[in-house]
Amino acid sequence: LFGNERKNSFGFNIEIEGEWHDFEALIQPFMSTTWQAGPIINAQMISTGTTLHAVTAPYDHSHTVGQVNYASAQHVEQALGVATDAFPQWSNTPVSERAAALERLADLLEANYGELMALCHREAGKTLQDSIDEIREAVDFCRYYAVQARLAMSDTVTLPSFDGSTMEIQREGRGVFVCISPWNFPLAIFLGQVTAALAAGNTVVAKPAEQTSIIAFRAIELMLEAGVPGGAIQLIIGEGATLGAPLTSDNRVAGVAFTGSTNTARVINRTLANRQAEPVPFIAETGGQNAMIIDSTCLPEQVARDVVRSAFASAGQRCSALRVLFVQKDIAERIIPMLRGAMMEQVVGNPVLHKTDIGPVIDKKAQSGLQLHIDKMKQNATLIAQAALPADAENGTFIAPTAFEISSIDQLTEEQFGPILHVVRYKASELDTIIDTINASGFGLTLGVHTRNETTANHIAARVRAGNIYINRDQVGAVVGVQPFGGQGLSGTGPKAGGPHYLKRFTREIRQQQA
Ligand code: GLU
Repeated sequence: LFGNERKNSFGFNIEIEGEWHDFEALIQPFMSTTWQAGPIINAQMISTGTTLHAVTAPYDHSHTVGQVNYASAQHVEQALGVATDAFPQWSNTPVSERAAALERLADLLEANYGELMALCHREAGKTLQDSIDEIREAVDFCRYYAVQARLAMSDTVTLPSFDGSTMEIQREGRGVFVCISPWNFPLAIFLGQVTAALAAGNTVVAKPAEQTSIIAFRAIELMLEAGVPGGAIQLIIGEGATLGAPLTSDNRVAGVAFTGSTNTARVINRTLANRQAEPVPFIAETGGQNAMIIDSTCLPEQVARDVVRSAFASAGQRCSALRVLFVQKDIAERIIPMLRGAMMEQVVGNPVLHKTDIGPVIDKKAQSGLQLHIDKMKQNATLIAQAALPADAENGTFIAPTAFEISSIDQLTEEQFGPILHVVRYKASELDTIIDTINASGFGLTLGVHTRNETTANHIAARVRAGNIYINRDQVGAVVGVQPFGGQGLSGTGPKAGGPHYLKRFTREIRQQQA
């Protein structure tokens, strides 16, 4: 859709179904909307028995976005009941109809670009470019899983026989899937999980991160408008701390898809294991301590550009983002000043403005955790650069992009989910030690490599245990269907989202034997 950008005086226009739109005109009507959102059970928004929360913009806490009703544990119980009752009918709905509903949803997302972009700015603090990418990825997930479902669910595999009988394997939905999604991709990851589960024939209870409840709410309203029946999709809005346990400890749950922290993944895994029920699939995509290794043959200008994007785009709030840059000593004195220069050019500020490169972090809790890390590193490491904050930064939750030089990755205990980069110098002879340290962290999500030496690139790629390895480019922004995304070890269970094996994990096999 955006392969064909046209510049105008505002920056760029966007094309939707053959028509060119000025993006500012598209979002303008929604810049002062106040949304009301809440849990949706059986196609009805719930506003009784809930607690009301005011939503403000992360870049300006005096700017109201809407009011949200948080669900109670009783609503979870209700939602699981409705989803359980609706399962037989939805799973028996022909896959072609389920897939067609998701394709209609993709069309509706495109038709509502303006509102969704405005919401991505105002509720999630996303920049214009990130908002466009967000909606695009959500549309891609809907269409991709519709195609994958037609392939995986209508396919009957006939097995070779030894006695003249025929054996066939087919797939079907498993039951009620719980989908728990993060705020950093409030539309794309949220809809990616839900559409895969639905396309495979499951009914769904979705629990998006509370920080981006309104985006999820509008997505489910559009899903219902697209023809997904009210029994098939339930939306539970509220805090994970109170709703997570009732959601995942219930014996009716037939599987969980989760994207978030490794620690929360452990809690969910334990809760599922403690149930007096059948073992069920747990699909987790978790954190990383992502590295990039650059050697002395790299192209410094390209490295500076790709490091800035990988570490600081989306305010570093991507699981895939670069956290530790390993620079070969021989080139460090060329790379580090260039990186400093590129960082100081970054414009941090209100994400609604076209000139802004980096918006706020999601909330005060995230901001204070990141600030604490920066303060600590200022004592224990060498500051390379820190970009400027806008004059009105105190109105929102901003963190200035910051880079430190550290002596070893061991100085980092946990992932910092924000615009903070750590740089480590290494000697050429230490390359294999670097690889071992990266693997020893236990995480394995993304890895970047910059070298013009093909043997080095192949050597590193073969040895580092990471889900997505990017050579001579940035390491964020995996594209659905082209760069399936997911990690290894502490970074997740797989299968990779947006890849050919993901949807199958939401199914079970049924085997038939005929004489
Ligand atoms: N798929 C995203 C990317 O490639 C990251 C997803 C995440 O942050 O969970 O940047």
